Amino acid sequence: MALWGMVIDLDRCTGCQACVMACKAENNIPAVGMKEAHKERVISWMQVLTETGEDQHGAKMRFIPRPCLQCDDPPCTKVCPVYATYRNPEGIVAQIYARCIGCRFCMAACPYNAKYFNWHTYQKEAPGQNPDVSLREKGVVEKCTFCHHRLQRARERASAEKREFDPAEYVPACAEACPAQAIVFGDLSDPASEVAKLAHSPRAFRLLEELGTKPKVFYLTEGEAGG
Ligand code: SF4
Ligand code: SF4
Repeated sequence: MALWGMVIDLDRCTGCQACVMACKAENNIPAVGMKEAHKERVISWMQVLTETGEDQHGAKMRFIPRPCLQCDDPPCTKVCPVYATYRNPEGIVAQIYARCIGCRFCMAACPYNAKYFNWHTYQKEAPGQNPDVSLREKGVVEKCTFCHHRLQRARERASAEKREFDPAEYVPACAEACPAQAIVFGDLSDPASEVAKLAHSPRAFRLLEELGTKPKVFYLTEGEAGG
């Protein structure tokens, strides 16, 4: 059984936001409008966090792309009173919109602020929406799904063509769009995969590791590329 995961190389990320835009287009992420944005209600499953620091050359801006970290021991699923969010057997933390009652317990439990609430029905049926991704109604919580629909599509394609599914066929939109190839995706349970090798590299770390949430999104530290 695969265990899907991601490695993001902070040395490669330029903060261009291509991953954010690709995610929005792929997952029908609504534009909430200025009024809502001022109330901090922007929805962005992938966010590029910034941090200002210093290196030997002076001030330096750091970019940290942050999807849902797909925790292997996710605190968000444990608090949902109606099982509207769960970890599937391949490690993807999923949302069932039709079940969500909008209590937002999962949002409070997520230490990475990776979940978003629909204060209104922001999305409308419109040309250009991705038909593989459901629209979300007012009152439900949503988040990054590692583009799970792409996995289903790839498996269906392989089955229709009567061949084995190749894990390399499943790539989330953010990883596909990154021009710097900062995002590597794949099966962490396969020691030969690039993602598994990078996740075990000495540069690899996870956000808030001490909480024991075991994110399946790993980061590679900056300033050491090629080392
Ligand atoms: S697309 Fe790649 S380089 Fe651009 S912000 Fe996202 S991770 Fe960084
Ligand atoms: S990052 Fe937050 S929303 Fe994603 S699995 Fe972990 S606790 Fe849940």
